[in-house]
Amino acid sequence: MDAHVHLYEDPTMADEETILVAVSDDLESSLKTLSLKGENVVPCVGVHPWSSPEVGEEELKEFEKLVERALCLGEIGLDKRYVPDFEKQRRVFEHFLTLSKEYSLPVNLHALDAWEEVFNMLLRYDVDRAYFHWFNGPLHLLDEIVSQGYYVGINAAAKIQKKHLRVIERAPLTSIMTESDGPYVYRGVKLTPKAVPELIGIIAKVKKVSEEAVAEAVLRNFKRWSGALAQG
Ligand SMILES: [Zn+2]
Repeated sequence: MDAHVHLYEDPTMADEETILVAVSDDLESSLKTLSLKGENVVPCVGVHPWSSPEVGEEELKEFEKLVERALCLGEIGLDKRYVPDFEKQRRVFEHFLTLSKEYSLPVNLHALDAWEEVFNMLLRYDVDRAYFHWFNGPLHLLDEIVSQGYYVGINAAAKIQKKHLRVIERAPLTSIMTESDGPYVYRGVKLTPKAVPELIGIIAKVKKVSEEAVAEAVLRNFKRWSGALAQG
């Protein structure tokens, strides 16, 4: 299961064995993602914080027509590292949090260097089902995310990103999902859904459990987050 993949950038990444949570970056990519909807493809629509400075009010309104066909909202959130206009980002993010509540859709979040702000906004908007993609925020916040019943993403880059291994150590198996963020190249490592099985092995090793136990936990978490299983 790949909980965060930009499938519209390369639809050949899909295969029959892997459930893909396909995120979008703007209106155009959201339309492409919706066209890829299938048995194993869970489409998310949204505006990435990197695209939010350019998005207009009209464009945001368009999303109200798309959400009925979507199964989740993302990639949405806030980014304090790469995007200078924080207020605009916040307005766009708030728009999607309102839609999440209105249509009861889970969110797939980008929160680079804005982990606490994103978490606090989820609480303010009373969002039920949230997933922090590629979580590398503070570990004390990880504990709060877990106790809130939200999920954190473990990226296949864990094999070379030491900091990310700390997240695997700390997060309970009941609160993680696996992802690639493909098609993305991180420090020379090609990230695609094909990198997920190796990641399952890494998590199993750190947690000292079997790979099957990890795979089952991740699938169960996905079902809870996506709404395929009742909450609780
Ligand atoms: Zn992404």
